Amino acid sequence: MAFKRRFAPRKKYCRFCADKNVAIDYKNADLLRDFITDRGKIIARRITGTCAKHQRRLTTAIKRSRQMALLFYTTTHATYVRKKTI
Ligand SMILES: [Zn+2]
Repeated sequence: MAFKRRFAPRKKYCRFCADKNVAIDYKNADLLRDFITDRGKIIARRITGTCAKHQRRLTTAIKRSRQMALLFYTTTHATYVRKKTI
């Protein structure tokens, strides 16, 4: 393989359009975590395949979730560890 497989190889589709039961909720941090990187960044729509409507809702939910401290803003801990090792 020429490239690193960072994501599970699956067809791109809007997960929320495909499954109407999946609610975009800021309390559902496990779901939201699928749409942010390990550094806490929101993954672009073109990568996750989420449609515009749902991506917008997702972004709002993630931001709200961050405020509720369910998700993190940045990897403060990782930076701290790196500083220690240097
Ligand atoms: Zn959608």
